[in-house]
Amino acid sequence: MPGSFSESRVGRWFAPGRVNLIGEHTDYNDGFVLPLALPLGTTCTAAVRPAGTVRLRSLQAPLDEVAVTMADLGATGWSELPTWAHYPLGVIREFERRGHEVRGVELELDSTVPLGAGLSSSAALSCSVAIALRDLFAPSVPAAEIIDIARTAENVYVGVPTGVLDQSASMLCTAGHVLFLDVRTREYQQIPFDLDRFDLQLLVFDTGSPHHLMDGEYAQRRAECAAAAAELGVPFLRDVTGLADIKRLADPVLRRRARHVITENARVLRVAEELRGGADPRAIGPVLSAGHASLRDDFEVSAPQLDTAVAAALVAGAYGARMVGGGFGGSVIALVDRARAAATAAAVRDAFARRSFDTPRTFAVTPAAGARRIE
Ligand code: ADP
Ligand code: MG
Repeated sequence: MPGSFSESRVGRWFAPGRVNLIGEHTDYNDGFVLPLALPLGTTCTAAVRPAGTVRLRSLQAPLDEVAVTMADLGATGWSELPTWAHYPLGVIREFERRGHEVRGVELELDSTVPLGAGLSSSAALSCSVAIALRDLFAPSVPAAEIIDIARTAENVYVGVPTGVLDQSASMLCTAGHVLFLDVRTREYQQIPFDLDRFDLQLLVFDTGSPHHLMDGEYAQRRAECAAAAAELGVPFLRDVTGLADIKRLADPVLRRRARHVITENARVLRVAEELRGGADPRAIGPVLSAGHASLRDDFEVSAPQLDTAVAAALVAGAYGARMVGGGFGGSVIALVDRARAAATAAAVRDAFARRSFDTPRTFAVTPAAGARRIE
């Protein structure tokens, strides 16, 4: 319904998607992550509307025009609404539940993050809405609470049990940096990640492979990690630092899952340390590739498309490559010489063609800024 934003009290907010340089499946184990924000993200155009009314639309779901009342939101009946609308409506509900009144609002969403590619279009969506509502209705809400609101929207109102990585990255990342985040303490640090200075590029390959099988597997991995921690007598696998400890796990599957989390946390610390010290990022390449092997062999969340992209990128000369996101599909990153970027992308495309996989989408990313008002 273009044109309905004709009045003056309209603003525009933007929240980015993310890739995680290293630290996969560590967030719900209370561990460490190291994401960067993408230049791609979701724009939320918002205006205050008469009390009690909510109107929503998304250019990525042009057939769904959602108009509900605040009273409807309190009642059951969300099942009638399109799934995507549960993200913004969940954010609204969560504001209200915490005592921040959202009087009435109209939102229009438009995303440049591919949906379901493991680049966190969902957090970009939730965070763009959350900062718009904050600025319009509750300006004193701090970033940490916005992160919790956006995460709760996904966990409770959509039903996806994500950790806090995606929303933290979208809210807290800054241009030119990776965000080192300790999920336990929520302490974080911006670490310079200057690819230009070293003639490097970070390529993202969106494999386009479906990850709809992921939900059950993700829940299972979470349960396995919790079981391993319980058997080891610690609150979270984050609390296990020595690999020797996992010998005490009777089940070889749990042993592998725990080994991934323990070694992955160590890889995050190692990469953060290298970059903090100003090292040439080429030095972290082997650590990224080791992360992929661990996700593939120990955590068992890779997929043929992901393994193919990683292998082809490495053969083409990438310093390191790994799957990103939850797994079973989604995207791969590769760290390459700028001069080799086009050849690497071509090599991955060729490898996909040979295996009759859909052509992957490739883009080069630089660490971008976090969520903000843009108009
Ligand atoms: P990812 O976060 O990796 O992109 P998810 O499965 O977590 O994958 O989130 C994708 C879902 O988020 C989509 O299926 C859709 O429901 C919702 N979504 C994200 N962005 C938009 C948007 N701009 N418009 C409508 N729905 C969106
Ligand atoms: Mg998501």
